[in-house]
Amino acid sequence: MRAYERLIKYTTFPTASDETTGKTPSTDVQFDFARYLVEEMKAMGFADAEVDGNCYVMGTIPATDPAVRTTLGLIAHMDVSPDAPCENVKPVLHPGYDGGIVDISADGSIRLDPADYPVLKKYVGKTLLTTDGTTLLGADDKAGIAEILTAAERLINDKTIKHGKIRVAFTPDEEIGEGADHFDVGKFGADFAFTVDGAAAGEVEYETFNAAGATVTLTGFSIHPGEAKGKMINAVDLAFEFDRLLPEKQRPQFTSGYEGFYHMVGIEGGVESVTCRYIIRDHDRAKLEERKEFFRRAAEMMNEKYGEERASVSIRDSYYNMAEVVLKYPQLLEAARAAARACGAEPVSDPVRGGTDGSRLSFMGLPCPNLGTGSHNHHGRGEFAVVEEMDRVVDILVDLVGRFE
Ligand SMILES: [Zn+2]
Repeated sequence: MRAYERLIKYTTFPTASDETTGKTPSTDVQFDFARYLVEEMKAMGFADAEVDGNCYVMGTIPATDPAVRTTLGLIAHMDVSPDAPCENVKPVLHPGYDGGIVDISADGSIRLDPADYPVLKKYVGKTLLTTDGTTLLGADDKAGIAEILTAAERLINDKTIKHGKIRVAFTPDEEIGEGADHFDVGKFGADFAFTVDGAAAGEVEYETFNAAGATVTLTGFSIHPGEAKGKMINAVDLAFEFDRLLPEKQRPQFTSGYEGFYHMVGIEGGVESVTCRYIIRDHDRAKLEERKEFFRRAAEMMNEKYGEERASVSIRDSYYNMAEVVLKYPQLLEAARAAARACGAEPVSDPVRGGTDGSRLSFMGLPCPNLGTGSHNHHGRGEFAVVEEMDRVVDILVDLVGRFE
């Protein structure tokens, strides 16, 4: 079976995660998908495929070369983004892409235009896989699962391909930042792993953001507006004042590449009290610390100005740049780049302006760069995969597992 055929099967599971449920996994349908994958893995010849109580699927492809002592892991996530609908996905194949505009939706509202998505030019002549524009496709990250299992099928059936022990894991709740929460690194038992959760085939990503979440609570003094003169302190005003202390151009919409930012993601409250939630990001760990300090200092300035505690800040680190860990193992990146080249893909390592499961796993003792899946426009109705590029990712994985000693 080809990888895209697996992906099409997997789209029948509407596995959006949900950060509001407080459960693990956050949605029950992820368990349905996990059980389906376990059955597929067993039928394929995985001896030990299982799903644990937290919805983590693990299984082993036994070594064909017992002299190889490195155990390699391959990881993808089962949930899809909650940012677009994922029920009743209707996959559509567009063979022989001509380089022009592809109307995905019947009403023309969702279209793939090379002017918007220059990456399309690479795929002229190939077969694009989209939906009918009413849902996302879920190639993020079911394409990764499809490619890992298609590679596994080949490795299990062809014992002439020499490799060490390979561990496979599929995780829940990556899209809500909880994919590594209950990952049992010891049980997984791999020395290194790759997540297959990126975009273009040939991507080898190892730089992510350092990330923190921050809240500032502004406390006002509420009094009847008719008697407010000289007395009222409106927490809404305080919130605006606080936000203006942060550098105006250091926001997501004004930054790219290695530039970090402050980003207010939510605000709620009224005259008495307002809470603003921010995310703070930077590729450089020291700069992240400076940003956190600047954020705290802004609150202190307000408190000094008002002569009492009006702004209180709490900051929590979310994840760190995996480069700090992964760069200690350059052979991992070299192997992935060599595998990509051997399969005709150009290895690309752009800094990720976000995090992956691997950002956390790398700091939990499992160095874990990220590979491309041959799919793009994740999290939206314009998401698409490229059938032949998915095949290429399978080739890359099969080649890659043979490069460890
Ligand atoms: Zn993903």
